[in-house]
Amino acid sequence: MKAWIGLYDDQINFNSMSNLIERPYDLKVTTDYLNFLSETLQHHELLTQNHHPSFYDTCFTTWDFQAYSLTIDELTYTAYLILRNPYESYCGNKNTANLLLAFLFFIRDNYRLGNPFHNFRHAVDVLQATNFFLTVLEAHKSEWSIQFSAPERFALLLAALGHDLGHPATTNQVLIQSDTRIAKLFHNESVLENYHQSQFRKACVPLLEGCKLSLGEETIEYMDKLITRAILATDMAKHDDYVKELDHFDNKDDSWENKVMLGSLLIKSADISNVCRPLQTSVKWALSLGEEFKQVNQLSRVIQGEASCLDVDGCGFDIKTITADEAVKRVKGLSGSQMFFINRFASVFFKKVGENIGPIGFLYEQLEVNRRYWEAN
Ligand SMILES: [Zn+2]
Repeated sequence: MKAWIGLYDDQINFNSMSNLIERPYDLKVTTDYLNFLSETLQHHELLTQNHHPSFYDTCFTTWDFQAYSLTIDELTYTAYLILRNPYESYCGNKNTANLLLAFLFFIRDNYRLGNPFHNFRHAVDVLQATNFFLTVLEAHKSEWSIQFSAPERFALLLAALGHDLGHPATTNQVLIQSDTRIAKLFHNESVLENYHQSQFRKACVPLLEGCKLSLGEETIEYMDKLITRAILATDMAKHDDYVKELDHFDNKDDSWENKVMLGSLLIKSADISNVCRPLQTSVKWALSLGEEFKQVNQLSRVIQGEASCLDVDGCGFDIKTITADEAVKRVKGLSGSQMFFINRFASVFFKKVGENIGPIGFLYEQLEVNRRYWEAN
């Protein structure tokens, strides 16, 4: 982790976050690489699937999406199914499916598998949530003034998938306080979010190149801007600004700026929607985030010289199968931390989201159900 966040930058030429940002970007090399992969490997054959094919067609269409019951291969395939239609309708050619899968393999490999929370599973979960919101909005479009075009919807789905790309499982605070080069490169401002958007947009270029003919350069530029703004909106330091924005959000205003605001609100809602998932799903995310915070605290102690190394001993149970009742018995402070997040951040935000974006008002209703459980336990 110290290498990745760049604490060794001065000494060794690691593949650290800052080195990746500063390395010149070569579109031809990246495009050739992705094309080479998609021409050489049949990516679908590399995926192991444990369920009947029909299972995957519907597993992502419910709000109770069970990301923890899917393997990384299955999550890759789910992401492919969500992105396939919007991608192929603009960028279709004979090798499209395999190119999209090659892109998804690249993205999943650039999420850090060892992170308890900020990993590819979280990325696909946020992608699924965003897709769910867009589908609900589309179904209510007669009562809703702001309409996303199909390329805009595709851009928002991409933003959801890439919004935490390369996350080091530390916080902006750690990066800034440790005086890392990556923090300096972004002037201590939304360091992680700037890193994610910068890296992800580079990864998207070869994919979107193929859409240039049908979409046109201007639309691709708009999509790129939407991806950037939506990812930057996930910085929790800006949370209260978005709560304030919701006070004067005009759901009849179809301007570009207002569309960007709505898109940002949807990605942001998806990003913190763990607390609004049905309780038995919500608890799994709560536990994994708790694990990551434990590691962040340990890393801070190592950096400050209070501990010699990371002592990651795991949580002692299987997050995939644990129930909420078992979890509150075994994890001290779980209900308290959930209550804190709900009271400080989620409650007022999702209440206003429901008031302004009616079709996704169900988020606040489920949040209230979960809140009552954590309060009682
Ligand atoms: Zn996230």
